[in-house]
Amino acid sequence: MIQGFLLKYAEIGVKGKNRYKFENALCEQIRIKLSKVDGDFTVVREQGRIYVEATGDFDSDEVIETLQRVPGISAISPVEVIEDKSWENLKKAAGDFIEKQYKEINFSFKVKSKRSDKCYQFTSPEICEQMGGYLLERFDGLKVDVHSPDVYIWIEVRDKAYVYSKVYQGMGGMPLGTAGKAMLLLSGGIDSPVAGYMISKRGVVLDAVYFHAPPYTSERAKEKVLNLARIMSRYTGKIRLNIINFTEIQMYIYEKCPHEELTIIMRRYMMRIAEEIAVNNRCIGLVTGESIGQVASQTMQSLLVTNEVCSLPVYRPLIAFDKQDIVNLAEKIGTFETSIQPYEDCCTIFVAKHPVTKPNANVIRNSEKKIAEQIDEMVKTALETVEIIEIDE
Ligand code: ATP
Ligand code: MG
Repeated sequence: MIQGFLLKYAEIGVKGKNRYKFENALCEQIRIKLSKVDGDFTVVREQGRIYVEATGDFDSDEVIETLQRVPGISAISPVEVIEDKSWENLKKAAGDFIEKQYKEINFSFKVKSKRSDKCYQFTSPEICEQMGGYLLERFDGLKVDVHSPDVYIWIEVRDKAYVYSKVYQGMGGMPLGTAGKAMLLLSGGIDSPVAGYMISKRGVVLDAVYFHAPPYTSERAKEKVLNLARIMSRYTGKIRLNIINFTEIQMYIYEKCPHEELTIIMRRYMMRIAEEIAVNNRCIGLVTGESIGQVASQTMQSLLVTNEVCSLPVYRPLIAFDKQDIVNLAEKIGTFETSIQPYEDCCTIFVAKHPVTKPNANVIRNSEKKIAEQIDEMVKTALETVEIIEIDE
């Protein structure tokens, strides 16, 4: 008998001829993730499904929790692979499996069965009937409920036989590496880590950029961003984090431009710099945590004016989310507690009392002429002095 995990995936199933590429990418990601877990795991792709065969000392809960952080998996079931599928052996093995899976056997059940080995001695309905009878006899606490059972017990007879019952939800989405790479503007706030999580769930590999403004923003603020990136990387895989020193640029804008336009001009420079790093690192999109109307810099008019400085598409997965929905997701992925630590962000330091909420692009472009003399040089310096940290869970 081999212990393992049966994995189901959703959307990969509809990828036609390219399907094997998605399946291979998913297997590869599973191998990478499980290489960090105790035990020996073999990932097998077989007839539209993926099995993880586990040997050695492993903790089933840990394996499940790890697989729940792999984009592309929709469901995970602990499974017993039974090589000797003769009926006598199979029914006993199925009973042993149920005994192992459930501490207390006191529930209603229904047996479901699939049989691709057409030479097997029983048909699918016969397997259900025979197995149901056997289990009823073996466990006093079981009763059959064919309409809404507490538990489904699956028996599949292929080359080998498989028994499984519990189903754990996976994170869904698409396997990492099947989409392309994007540059996430990662602040220390609640929103941008959630935005990064959502984009990478669609198979996108992430690089990130953080704008740091020492001494106005502290080392601890930077540390907080590193911690957020580390938590995210549990789902997104490695993140190459670019830390840009933004102080000089910010001070210069503060000195020369109308204060109510400060945030919007600053944001335009963030986007320009992020795009430059993105292009140099073969990213084909930018990602932000913006959401319509959340703050002055996120009105549709502000987004329009911020957007015009980029030629890469800017992906904003939270654009229509309410704050509470974002908070719920942040709690789910485990970034919330870190995000609410009270360290200052560079955006909040020079923020005006009454920032423009409906900026006009011509006005803003005119204001930017006031910094024309030195800004390009400053941006160049910022790019040249970037600090790069590779983040992995
Ligand atoms: P967040 O919670 O993600 O910080 P926010 O509600 O504070 O978002 P803003 O400060 O307006 O909103 O920032 C909007 C987006 O701009 C952020 O989601 C993030 O993608 C990006 N951003 C803001 N500040 C920084 C920064 N210091 N470094 C990198 N990106 C930033
Ligand atoms: Mg912020």
